[in-house]
Amino acid sequence: MPGNKTNLLGLSKQQLEAFLLDLGEKPFRAIQLIKWIHQFGVTDFDEMTNISKDLRARLNECAEVRPPVVRERFDAEDGCFKWIVEVESGSSVETVYIPEAGRGTLCISSQAGCSLDCSFCATGKQGFNSDLTTAEIIGQLWLANRELDTFGTKTPRKVTNVVMMGMGEPLMNFENVMSAISLMMEDNCYGLSKRRVTISTSGVVPAMDRLKEYTDASLAISLHAPNDELRSQIVPINRKYPISELLRSTNDYLDSLPDSRVATIEYILISGVNDHRQHARELAEVLKKTPCKINLIPFNPFEGSGYKRSSNSAISNFQKILRDAGYTVTIRTTRGDDIGAACGQLVGEVEDHTRRSARYRAQWKQSTPVQRLKIQ
Ligand code: SAH
Ligand code: SF4
Repeated sequence: MPGNKTNLLGLSKQQLEAFLLDLGEKPFRAIQLIKWIHQFGVTDFDEMTNISKDLRARLNECAEVRPPVVRERFDAEDGCFKWIVEVESGSSVETVYIPEAGRGTLCISSQAGCSLDCSFCATGKQGFNSDLTTAEIIGQLWLANRELDTFGTKTPRKVTNVVMMGMGEPLMNFENVMSAISLMMEDNCYGLSKRRVTISTSGVVPAMDRLKEYTDASLAISLHAPNDELRSQIVPINRKYPISELLRSTNDYLDSLPDSRVATIEYILISGVNDHRQHARELAEVLKKTPCKINLIPFNPFEGSGYKRSSNSAISNFQKILRDAGYTVTIRTTRGDDIGAACGQLVGEVEDHTRRSARYRAQWKQSTPVQRLKIQ
C-alpha cells in the first residue's frame, strides 16, 4: 500500500532538485539519485553508494522508490511482451513491448480506461477509472527495463521508442504525461530522442495548443474519418473540436518545432464504415495542408464491437489512392498472435466510474480476443 513517503520515481529532475533543497541538500544530488533510479534501476537507497550515509538515512525516512506492480506478464513467441500493471486506483493497465529490426517500441498507458468513448475502441468501452500518476506512467518504462534486463548495461538499449498509445487519452492527463515524457527524454534517465517519443491523441485541441510549451515530442493524430459528419459518429470528441480545428492545431505544433517533422495520421479501417474509395479521396484532400505520413490500421475486432475489419483489397485500394495522391502510407501489420494486445484492445481491469460496463467486462473475460499486436 502506498504510504506517506514521497515516491521519487515520479519526480522530474527539477522536482527532485526542489525536494532535495527542502531536505537542506545541494540540488546536484538530484542527478546522482535520478541515475540510480532510472539508469541502474535501484530502489533501495542503501545501495546508492555515492550518496552519504546521512542522506540515505533521511531518504529512508521520508522517501521511497516504488515502481508499479506487475500482475501478469505474457511473452509472445515473436519476442513481444505484454504486462498487466497494477495502479493505485485499484485498476490495472497494459503495457506492450514490440521488438523490430534495429528498434524496440514500448506502448505505454496514460489512464485506466478512457472517457472519450470512441466507438471502435475496447478501452473506451470500459469507461474511465483514473488518471495514472507520473510514477505509474514512467514506471511502465522502468518496469520494461527491469523485465528486459537492461538496467545498468552497456548493451544497446532494448526500448528505443515510446508511443503513448496504450490505454487512455494522454492529453486528458496532461501534467502527469508531460512530467513522464520529460523523464523519458532526460539524458540522465532514459535519454530517448524527441523523435522517438510519440504522443497519440484523438484531438483534445486545447491541450494540443499547450503542448509546445512543455515538449517537442512527436505527434500522432487519431483521425479515422475524412469529414466531420462521420468522425463525430466514431470519435465523439470531434463534436467539440472538429477536423479543421484539429488540423490547425496540429500544424501549429509542427510549426513550433525547430526541425522538419511530420505528424503521423492514424486511420483505422473499418469495413463499410470509413473504408470506401471516396473516403480515401476525401482524406487526401483534407490533409493537403498538413505535413504528415499516414498509418492505416486494420480494425482489431473485439467481442461486442459490432464492427468488422476491412478486406485486404479495400485496404490496398485505400492505400493506393493515398499513395497516388503523394502521401507516404504504411499499413500496420499483425504480430504477437498468442498474447492479445492489439491497438484498441487493451483493457486491463478497469472499474468504470462513469457508467456501467459490467456486462461488457463479463463478455470480455469470457471471450478469446483476436490476438494481434500492432507494429508500424
Ligand atoms: N487515446 C489516444 C491513444 C490511445 S489509442 C488515441 O486515441 O490516439 C491508440 C491507437 O489505437 C489510436 O490510434 C486508436 O485510434 C487505435 N485504436 C483504438 N481501437 C482500435 C481498434 N479496435 N483497432 C485498431 N486500432 C484501434
Ligand atoms: Fe480513448 Fe483513444 Fe480509445 Fe478513443 S481511441 S476511446 S481516445 S483510448
